[in-house]
Amino acid sequence: MSTEPLIVLNGDLVPYGQATAHVMSPAMRYGLNVFEGLRAYWNAGENELHVFRLQDHLGRLAQSMKLLRFAPTFNVAELGPQLLDLLRANEIKDACHIRMSAYLDGDGEHHVSGPVSYFIASRVQPRSEKAVTGIRCAVSSWVRMADSAMPPRIKCGANYVNARLARFQALHDGYDDALLLNEHGKVGEGPGACVFLVRHGQLVTPDITSGILESITRDTMMALARDVGINVVERTVDRTELYAANEMFVAGSAAEVLPVVSVDGIELGDGRVGPATKALQAAYFSAVTGDSHRDKGWLTPVYGSA
Ligand code: PMP
Repeated sequence: MSTEPLIVLNGDLVPYGQATAHVMSPAMRYGLNVFEGLRAYWNAGENELHVFRLQDHLGRLAQSMKLLRFAPTFNVAELGPQLLDLLRANEIKDACHIRMSAYLDGDGEHHVSGPVSYFIASRVQPRSEKAVTGIRCAVSSWVRMADSAMPPRIKCGANYVNARLARFQALHDGYDDALLLNEHGKVGEGPGACVFLVRHGQLVTPDITSGILESITRDTMMALARDVGINVVERTVDRTELYAANEMFVAGSAAEVLPVVSVDGIELGDGRVGPATKALQAAYFSAVTGDSHRDKGWLTPVYGSA
Protein backbone atom coordinates (compact mmCIF):
# COMPACT_ATOMS: atom_id res chain seq x y z
CA MET A 1 0.00 0.00 0.00
CA SER A 2 1.62 3.21 -1.07
CA THR A 3 0.30 6.71 -1.52
CA GLU A 4 -0.96 7.46 -5.04
CA PRO A 5 1.29 9.61 -7.30
CA LEU A 6 -0.73 12.83 -7.01
CA ILE A 7 -1.56 14.77 -3.84
CA VAL A 8 -3.63 17.93 -3.36
CA LEU A 9 -1.49 20.60 -1.67
CA ASN A 10 -3.29 23.88 -0.94
CA GLY A 11 -5.71 23.29 -3.80
CA ASP A 12 -3.17 22.21 -6.43
CA LEU A 13 -2.53 18.70 -7.70
CA VAL A 14 1.18 18.07 -7.18
CA PRO A 15 3.41 15.00 -7.59
CA TYR A 16 4.06 13.02 -4.38
CA GLY A 17 7.67 14.25 -4.12
CA GLN A 18 6.65 17.90 -4.18
CA ALA A 19 4.06 17.64 -1.38
CA THR A 20 6.42 18.74 1.39
CA ALA A 21 6.29 20.91 4.53
CA HIS A 22 9.10 22.86 6.17
CA VAL A 23 10.97 21.42 9.17
CA MET A 24 10.43 24.74 11.01
CA SER A 25 6.64 24.68 10.60
CA PRO A 26 4.60 24.44 13.84
CA ALA A 27 3.12 21.31 12.25
CA MET A 28 6.55 19.70 12.30
CA ARG A 29 7.83 21.21 15.54
CA TYR A 30 4.72 20.79 17.70
CA GLY A 31 2.53 18.34 15.82
CA LEU A 32 0.02 21.09 15.03
CA ASN A 33 -2.23 19.50 12.47
CA VAL A 34 -5.84 18.34 12.35
CA PHE A 35 -6.98 15.65 9.99
CA GLU A 36 -9.60 13.26 8.70
CA GLY A 37 -9.22 9.65 7.60
CA LEU A 38 -12.01 8.46 5.35
CA ARG A 39 -12.62 5.86 2.70
CA ALA A 40 -13.98 5.50 -0.79
CA TYR A 41 -15.38 2.20 -2.08
CA TRP A 42 -15.59 0.78 -5.57
CA ASN A 43 -18.96 -0.54 -6.71
CA ALA A 44 -18.15 -2.91 -9.60
CA GLY A 45 -21.80 -3.30 -10.66
CA GLU A 46 -22.17 0.44 -11.12
CA ASN A 47 -18.61 1.05 -12.27
CA GLU A 48 -18.46 3.83 -9.71
CA LEU A 49 -16.34 4.90 -6.76
CA HIS A 50 -18.17 6.44 -3.79
CA VAL A 51 -16.69 8.47 -0.95
CA PHE A 52 -18.36 7.47 2.31
CA ARG A 53 -19.80 10.29 4.45
CA LEU A 54 -17.68 13.01 2.86
CA GLN A 55 -19.73 15.94 4.17
CA ASP A 56 -19.55 14.61 7.74
CA HIS A 57 -15.78 14.33 7.54
CA LEU A 58 -15.50 17.87 6.15
CA GLY A 59 -17.70 19.11 8.97
CA ARG A 60 -15.53 17.46 11.59
CA LEU A 61 -12.35 18.83 9.98
CA ALA A 62 -13.82 22.34 10.21
CA GLN A 63 -14.76 21.70 13.85
CA SER A 64 -11.22 20.49 14.69
CA MET A 65 -9.74 23.60 13.03
CA LYS A 66 -12.09 25.83 14.99
CA LEU A 67 -11.41 24.15 18.35
CA LEU A 68 -7.64 24.29 17.80
CA ARG A 69 -7.98 27.95 16.78
CA PHE A 70 -6.60 27.55 13.25
CA ALA A 71 -7.40 30.64 11.15
CA PRO A 72 -10.19 29.91 8.61
CA THR A 73 -7.97 30.89 5.67
CA PHE A 74 -9.70 28.51 3.23
CA ASN A 75 -13.19 27.18 2.82
CA VAL A 76 -13.22 23.57 4.05
CA ALA A 77 -16.20 22.81 1.75
CA GLU A 78 -13.87 23.28 -1.24
CA LEU A 79 -11.89 20.22 -0.18
CA GLY A 80 -14.82 18.02 -1.24
CA PRO A 81 -14.60 18.72 -5.00
CA GLN A 82 -10.79 18.76 -4.74
CA LEU A 83 -10.85 15.28 -3.25
CA LEU A 84 -13.06 14.01 -6.09
CA ASP A 85 -10.64 15.56 -8.61
CA LEU A 86 -7.74 13.86 -6.85
CA LEU A 87 -9.36 10.41 -6.95
CA ARG A 88 -10.12 10.84 -10.66
CA ALA A 89 -6.59 12.14 -11.39
CA ASN A 90 -5.12 9.11 -9.59
CA GLU A 91 -7.59 6.91 -11.52
CA ILE A 92 -8.60 5.02 -8.39
CA LYS A 93 -11.06 2.21 -9.02
CA ASP A 94 -10.60 0.26 -5.82
CA ALA A 95 -11.26 0.54 -2.09
CA CYS A 96 -9.04 3.34 -0.85
CA HIS A 97 -8.20 5.36 2.21
CA ILE A 98 -8.03 9.14 2.10
CA ARG A 99 -6.18 11.51 4.37
CA MET A 100 -7.15 15.19 4.60
CA SER A 101 -4.99 17.31 6.82
CA ALA A 102 -4.84 21.01 7.74
CA TYR A 103 -1.63 22.11 9.43
CA LEU A 104 0.17 25.16 10.76
CA ASP A 105 2.70 26.23 8.17
CA GLY A 106 5.25 29.03 8.33
CA ASP A 107 7.70 29.16 11.25
CA GLY A 108 5.68 30.60 14.13
CA GLU A 109 5.37 29.47 17.73
CA HIS A 110 2.74 27.05 19.00
CA HIS A 111 0.21 29.81 19.76
CA VAL A 112 -0.02 31.17 16.19
CA SER A 113 -3.19 30.70 14.11
CA GLY A 114 -1.63 30.61 10.66
CA PRO A 115 -0.64 30.36 7.96
CA VAL A 116 -2.72 27.20 7.52
CA SER A 117 -1.91 24.76 4.71
CA TYR A 118 -3.69 21.59 3.77
CA PHE A 119 -3.21 18.42 1.79
CA ILE A 120 -5.34 15.54 0.57
CA ALA A 121 -3.75 12.16 -0.23
CA SER A 122 -5.16 8.76 -1.16
CA ARG A 123 -3.97 5.18 -1.21
CA VAL A 124 -5.57 1.92 -2.23
CA GLN A 125 -6.25 -0.01 0.96
CA PRO A 126 -8.00 -3.36 1.04
CA ARG A 127 -10.03 -4.66 3.97
CA SER A 128 -8.14 -6.18 6.92
CA GLU A 129 -8.28 -9.98 7.23
CA LYS A 130 -9.04 -9.36 10.90
CA ALA A 131 -12.53 -8.31 9.85
CA VAL A 132 -13.19 -12.07 9.60
CA THR A 133 -11.05 -13.52 12.39
CA GLY A 134 -11.58 -10.74 14.93
CA ILE A 135 -8.96 -9.21 17.20
CA ARG A 136 -7.67 -9.82 20.72
CA CYS A 137 -7.47 -6.63 22.77
CA ALA A 138 -5.82 -5.56 26.00
CA VAL A 139 -7.00 -2.81 28.32
CA SER A 140 -4.07 -0.41 28.27
CA SER A 141 -2.22 0.87 31.31
CA TRP A 142 -2.05 4.14 29.37
CA VAL A 143 -5.04 6.39 30.11
CA ARG A 144 -6.98 8.19 27.38
CA MET A 145 -6.18 11.87 27.61
CA ALA A 146 -8.95 14.05 29.07
CA ASP A 147 -11.11 16.70 27.41
CA SER A 148 -9.60 19.13 29.94
CA ALA A 149 -6.06 18.36 28.73
CA MET A 150 -5.85 17.05 25.15
CA PRO A 151 -9.43 16.82 23.91
CA PRO A 152 -10.04 13.56 22.01
CA ARG A 153 -12.91 15.37 20.27
CA ILE A 154 -10.32 17.37 18.31
CA LYS A 155 -8.94 15.05 15.66
CA CYS A 156 -5.37 16.30 15.76
CA GLY A 157 -2.16 14.46 15.01
CA ALA A 158 -0.72 15.13 18.47
CA ASN A 159 -3.51 13.06 20.08
CA TYR A 160 -2.03 10.01 18.40
CA VAL A 161 0.94 10.11 20.77
CA ASN A 162 -1.48 8.69 23.34
CA ALA A 163 -2.78 6.20 20.75
CA ARG A 164 0.75 5.14 19.84
CA LEU A 165 1.77 4.49 23.45
CA ALA A 166 -1.26 2.26 23.97
CA ARG A 167 -1.09 0.38 20.65
CA PHE A 168 2.67 -0.12 20.75
CA GLN A 169 2.45 -1.64 24.21
CA ALA A 170 -0.48 -3.89 23.21
CA LEU A 171 1.35 -5.17 20.10
CA HIS A 172 4.55 -5.64 22.08
CA ASP A 173 2.62 -7.68 24.65
CA GLY A 174 1.22 -9.94 21.91
CA TYR A 175 -2.29 -8.48 21.48
CA ASP A 176 -3.82 -7.12 18.28
CA ASP A 177 -4.82 -3.77 19.75
CA ALA A 178 -5.46 -1.75 22.91
CA LEU A 179 -8.57 -0.37 24.59
CA LEU A 180 -8.16 2.82 26.58
CA LEU A 181 -9.97 3.79 29.76
CA ASN A 182 -10.61 7.48 30.35
CA GLU A 183 -9.46 9.54 33.34
CA HIS A 184 -12.46 8.29 35.34
CA GLY A 185 -11.49 4.67 34.75
CA LYS A 186 -14.43 4.13 32.36
CA VAL A 187 -14.16 2.70 28.85
CA GLY A 188 -13.16 5.31 26.28
CA GLU A 189 -12.12 4.01 22.89
CA GLY A 190 -9.41 2.18 20.98
CA PRO A 191 -6.32 3.98 19.63
CA GLY A 192 -8.08 4.41 16.28
CA ALA A 193 -11.64 3.21 16.66
CA CYS A 194 -14.75 3.49 18.82
CA VAL A 195 -16.07 0.63 20.95
CA PHE A 196 -19.39 -1.26 20.90
CA LEU A 197 -20.57 -4.06 23.20
CA VAL A 198 -23.52 -6.37 22.89
CA ARG A 199 -25.04 -6.99 26.34
CA HIS A 200 -28.49 -8.28 27.21
CA GLY A 201 -29.54 -7.91 23.57
CA GLN A 202 -28.65 -4.21 23.46
CA LEU A 203 -25.88 -2.43 21.63
CA VAL A 204 -23.93 -0.36 24.16
CA THR A 205 -21.32 2.30 23.36
CA PRO A 206 -19.58 4.94 25.53
CA ASP A 207 -21.38 8.30 25.29
CA ILE A 208 -19.65 11.25 23.65
CA THR A 209 -18.62 12.77 26.98
CA SER A 210 -16.60 9.62 27.80
CA GLY A 211 -13.44 11.19 26.36
CA ILE A 212 -13.80 9.93 22.80
CA LEU A 213 -13.67 11.16 19.26
CA GLU A 214 -17.12 11.92 17.85
CA SER A 215 -16.72 9.04 15.45
CA ILE A 216 -18.62 9.04 12.18
CA THR A 217 -18.57 5.23 12.01
CA ARG A 218 -20.06 5.18 15.51
CA ASP A 219 -22.95 7.22 14.16
CA THR A 220 -23.25 4.89 11.16
CA MET A 221 -23.31 1.75 13.33
CA MET A 222 -25.97 3.20 15.62
CA ALA A 223 -28.13 4.06 12.59
CA LEU A 224 -27.67 0.57 11.09
CA ALA A 225 -28.53 -1.10 14.41
CA ARG A 226 -31.65 1.02 14.94
CA ASP A 227 -32.77 0.20 11.40
CA VAL A 228 -32.98 -3.49 12.29
CA GLY A 229 -34.65 -2.82 15.64
CA ILE A 230 -31.63 -3.26 17.93
CA ASN A 231 -31.83 -1.01 20.97
CA VAL A 232 -28.77 1.28 21.13
CA VAL A 233 -27.61 2.71 24.46
CA GLU A 234 -25.00 5.47 24.76
CA ARG A 235 -23.72 5.55 28.33
CA THR A 236 -20.76 5.22 30.67
CA VAL A 237 -19.22 1.74 30.33
CA ASP A 238 -17.29 -0.07 33.07
CA ARG A 239 -14.13 -2.05 32.38
CA THR A 240 -15.67 -5.26 33.70
CA GLU A 241 -18.52 -4.91 31.21
CA LEU A 242 -15.95 -5.58 28.50
CA TYR A 243 -15.30 -9.04 29.96
CA ALA A 244 -19.00 -9.66 30.61
CA ALA A 245 -20.08 -8.70 27.08
CA ASN A 246 -21.56 -11.37 24.81
CA GLU A 247 -20.03 -9.66 21.81
CA MET A 248 -17.88 -6.69 21.05
CA PHE A 249 -16.48 -4.81 18.07
CA VAL A 250 -14.46 -1.70 17.35
CA ALA A 251 -15.33 0.57 14.44
CA GLY A 252 -13.77 3.42 12.50
CA SER A 253 -13.37 4.69 8.96
CA ALA A 254 -9.99 2.99 8.54
CA ALA A 255 -10.63 -0.02 10.80
CA GLU A 256 -14.16 -0.50 9.42
CA VAL A 257 -15.86 -3.04 11.73
CA LEU A 258 -13.48 -5.38 13.58
CA PRO A 259 -14.93 -8.03 15.90
CA VAL A 260 -13.20 -8.31 19.29
CA VAL A 261 -13.04 -11.93 20.44
CA SER A 262 -11.17 -11.48 23.73
CA VAL A 263 -10.12 -8.74 26.16
CA ASP A 264 -7.11 -9.25 28.45
CA GLY A 265 -7.18 -12.92 27.46
CA ILE A 266 -10.80 -13.35 28.59
CA GLU A 267 -12.96 -14.76 25.80
CA LEU A 268 -16.14 -12.83 25.05
CA GLY A 269 -19.21 -15.03 24.71
CA ASP A 270 -18.02 -18.29 23.16
CA GLY A 271 -14.82 -16.67 21.89
CA ARG A 272 -16.09 -16.50 18.32
CA VAL A 273 -17.43 -13.63 16.26
CA GLY A 274 -21.04 -13.23 17.43
CA PRO A 275 -24.24 -13.05 15.36
CA ALA A 276 -25.08 -9.39 16.05
CA THR A 277 -21.54 -8.34 15.17
CA LYS A 278 -21.67 -10.37 11.95
CA ALA A 279 -25.01 -8.87 10.95
CA LEU A 280 -23.98 -5.27 11.71
CA GLN A 281 -20.65 -5.75 9.96
CA ALA A 282 -22.41 -7.10 6.86
CA ALA A 283 -24.81 -4.13 6.94
CA TYR A 284 -21.84 -1.75 7.14
CA PHE A 285 -20.01 -3.43 4.26
CA SER A 286 -23.04 -3.20 2.03
CA ALA A 287 -23.85 0.40 3.05
CA VAL A 288 -20.35 1.68 2.23
CA THR A 289 -20.38 0.29 -1.30
CA GLY A 290 -23.92 1.49 -1.90
CA ASP A 291 -25.49 -1.97 -2.07
CA SER A 292 -27.92 -0.87 0.65
CA HIS A 293 -28.99 2.19 2.64
CA ARG A 294 -28.80 4.54 -0.35
CA ASP A 295 -31.59 6.60 1.19
CA LYS A 296 -29.25 7.76 3.98
CA GLY A 297 -27.36 10.04 1.57
CA TRP A 298 -23.99 8.77 2.81
CA LEU A 299 -22.33 8.34 -0.60
CA THR A 300 -20.69 10.86 -2.92
CA PRO A 301 -20.05 9.47 -6.43
CA VAL A 302 -16.58 10.22 -7.82
CA TYR A 303 -16.73 9.56 -11.57
CA GLY A 304 -20.42 10.31 -12.05
CA SER A 305 -20.00 13.76 -10.53
CA ALA A 306 -17.27 14.81 -13.01
N1 PMP B 1 -11.49 7.01 17.78
C1 PMP B 1 -10.24 7.31 17.39
C2 PMP B 1 -9.23 7.63 18.42
C3 PMP B 1 -9.91 7.33 16.04
O1 PMP B 1 -8.68 7.64 15.64
C4 PMP B 1 -10.89 7.00 15.08
C5 PMP B 1 -10.55 6.98 13.63
N2 PMP B 1 -10.64 8.26 13.08
C6 PMP B 1 -12.18 6.69 15.53
C7 PMP B 1 -12.45 6.69 16.88
C8 PMP B 1 -13.25 6.40 14.55
O2 PMP B 1 -13.64 7.62 13.98
P1 PMP B 1 -14.36 7.65 12.56
O3 PMP B 1 -15.44 6.66 12.64
O4 PMP B 1 -14.88 9.01 12.42
O5 PMP B 1 -13.33 7.28 11.56
